[in-house]
Amino acid sequence: MSKVVGIDLGTTNSLVAYVKDGAPVVIRDESGDALVPSVVSIGRDNTVYVGREAQRRLLTEPSRTVYSVKRFMGRGIEDVGDEARLLPFDVGGEEGGVVRIGVAGREFTPPEISAFVLRELKRRAEDHFREDGEFDFEVDRAVIAVPAYFNDAQRTATRDAGRLAGLEVLRIINEPTAASLAYGLDRKNRGTVAVYDLGGGTFDISILRVEDGVFQVLATNGDTHLGGDDIDAMLTTFVLADIGHSAAEGETVQTVRKAVIQAKIDLSETDETEIRIEPGRAVPRGYRKRITRADLEHMIRELVERTVGPCRQALADAGLGPQDIDEVVLVGGSTRIPLVRRAVEELFGRPAHAGLNPDEVVALGAAVQADILLSGRREMLLLDVTPLSLGIETLGGVTSKIILRNSTIPASGREMFTTGADNQTAVDVHVLQGERELASDCRSLARFTLRGIPPMPAGLPRIEVRFQIDANGILSVSARELRTAIEQTIEVKPSYGLTDQEVERMLIESFEHAEADFEARLLIEARNEAETVIHATEKSMRRPDFETLANEELEPGERRRIDDALAAARTAIGGTDREQIQQATAALNEATRHLAEVSMNRSVREALAGRNVKDL
Ligand code: ADP
Ligand code: MG
Repeated sequence: MSKVVGIDLGTTNSLVAYVKDGAPVVIRDESGDALVPSVVSIGRDNTVYVGREAQRRLLTEPSRTVYSVKRFMGRGIEDVGDEARLLPFDVGGEEGGVVRIGVAGREFTPPEISAFVLRELKRRAEDHFREDGEFDFEVDRAVIAVPAYFNDAQRTATRDAGRLAGLEVLRIINEPTAASLAYGLDRKNRGTVAVYDLGGGTFDISILRVEDGVFQVLATNGDTHLGGDDIDAMLTTFVLADIGHSAAEGETVQTVRKAVIQAKIDLSETDETEIRIEPGRAVPRGYRKRITRADLEHMIRELVERTVGPCRQALADAGLGPQDIDEVVLVGGSTRIPLVRRAVEELFGRPAHAGLNPDEVVALGAAVQADILLSGRREMLLLDVTPLSLGIETLGGVTSKIILRNSTIPASGREMFTTGADNQTAVDVHVLQGERELASDCRSLARFTLRGIPPMPAGLPRIEVRFQIDANGILSVSARELRTAIEQTIEVKPSYGLTDQEVERMLIESFEHAEADFEARLLIEARNEAETVIHATEKSMRRPDFETLANEELEPGERRRIDDALAAARTAIGGTDREQIQQATAALNEATRHLAEVSMNRSVREALAGRNVKDL
C-alpha cells in the first residue's frame, strides 16, 4: 500500500495533507498544529532546524536562518535585485545562473532550502501514518501546489526541491486550482471561479474557468509584497512608538511582533482584545493595551483596498465583470480577517466559500489531486492549463508561439523552420515564454543549437521544433532536421533551473548526507575507542597470573563487574547506537581501572625483581 500526499509549499507556511476515507485532511503535529513555517536554520553543529524551531532562531541566529525562499525559486540574480535587498540574508549567484543563498558560511540554491521544508513535511507525514498504525512505508510521492503565475523555471525548481527531499513529484498543481478542488468545484458543469489568496507576504487573485472538470486559468494578478506581514509591521511600529522604542533591537522587535500577531489573530474572532507583553529583557516594564476590531480595521483599511485594483485588472484581462463570477474562494491565513472577507464579498457581489480553513485549503486540494492521480478515476480526470504562451525566437527577434497560453496540459505543439543562409549547418533555438511579440520582452527559458545540418541552399532544410509540456506544466523542447533524416533531439532545461547532474550532485552532497556522514564517522570513532578498551581488558585477563592476581588483589564482586562491563561493551559495539557505545566504554574503563592499576603494579614489580637499580 502506498500513499501520495498533497503539499502546499508556501512563502510563509507549508503543510501536508492526504485523503483519508474519501475526504482530504491535513496532517498535524502532536500539538495540533498543521502549519510548518517555511523557515530553515542551520545550527553551529550543522543541525538543520525547520519550522517553528527555525522561526524562533530568527531572533537568536539571524545569519544562519532563511525564510521567504519561495520568492527565489527558479529565478536568476538579475530577476531578484529588489527582492534580495529586502531580506537580511545573502542572495547572490552568477549572472545568468541560479540564485544562491548564503547562510551559515555555505551556499544553497533555493530548491535545496525548500527541500529541507519538504523533508520535514515528509517526515511529519510518515510519523503520522506510523502512529495511526495505518502503514509504515516511506512517503515518497507527492503533488505540490505552486502559484498559477509560476513559469516553467519556477515549476521545475519546485519539482527539483521535491526530488532533493526524496519525493517524486507526480504533479505540480496551481494553487487556485487546488483550492477550487478542495471545494469540489471541479464537479460543476461549468462556471467561473475567483480565487482570492492573501497570505503572509503575497497577494494573488486568479480567475479560473471550470468546464467538465477542466480548469483553465483565465487571468492572474496580484501584489508580490502585500499580506499579513504588512499588518504585523504596522502594528509593531505602533507599539514600539507607544513604548518609546522606535529604533529597537532585534529581540524587542521580535517580542513585540509576536504579541501583535497574537492580537491580530484574536481580533479575527473577537471584537476586542489586549496586546500583551510580559515584563522581561526585551520590554522591561511589559506592555498591555486594549485594541478593538474597529481599531484594527481602521489601520488596515487602505491595505485591504490595495487588493481591489489587481482583482479588477484580473477581471478585465479575463474579459469578465464581477457579475460573471459564479464562485469566490478565499485562500491564505489573512482572509480570516473579517474586513478582508467583507471587501471580497462586496467586490464580487456574492458570499465567498469559507467552509474550509483558508490556510489549509491549498494542501487539501493538492491531496484531492493526489488521490485522483492514484485512483485513476476517469470521471474526475483533472486537467490544467499552461499559464503563458511558449515559443521560439525567429528572424528579426520576433516571438513565434508554438503552444498558446491556456492550452490544456499535457500539451504539445510543433513548427517547421528553415535556414536563412546558404550552407548553414547549425541553427540557434531560443526558447521563450510570454505573450509579447518581441523576443526581448519575453522571458528567455533556454537556448540551444541544432548542429549537423548538411550544407544546403537557404530555405531547403526542414527543421521541426517540437514543444511538449507534461502534466506538471514542465516543458521539453526538441529540434530535428527532417529532410536528411538527421535527427537530433535536445532536451532543454530552463536557464534558471538546475541540470539533472546538478540535482544528482546535490543529492549526493546534500546536507543531510553530510550530516549522516558526520554521524557515521562519530560512530566509527566510538567503536574504535571501545575496541581499544575491550582489547586492553582482554589482554590483562589473558595474562598467566590473572587468576592469582584476581584472587589476591581484586575486591569481592569486582571480577563480576568487570565481566559484565566487558560483555556489555561487546554487545554495544555490535549495534549502531553511538551513545550506548560511549557509555559502555566509559563503564568498562571505570570497572577496570583498579585492575589496570594492580596489574601494572605487578608487571613493574616482576620487571624489577632480580635486577638492581643500575640495570635500569
Ligand atoms: P503563505 O501562503 O504566504 O505561506 P498563509 O496562507 O499561511 O501564508 O498566511 C499566513 C498569514 O496569515 C500570516 O501573516 C498570519 O499572521 C496570517 N493569519 C493566520 N491566521 C490569521 C487570523 N486568524 N487572522 C488574521 N491573520 C491570520
Ligand atoms: Mg499560500
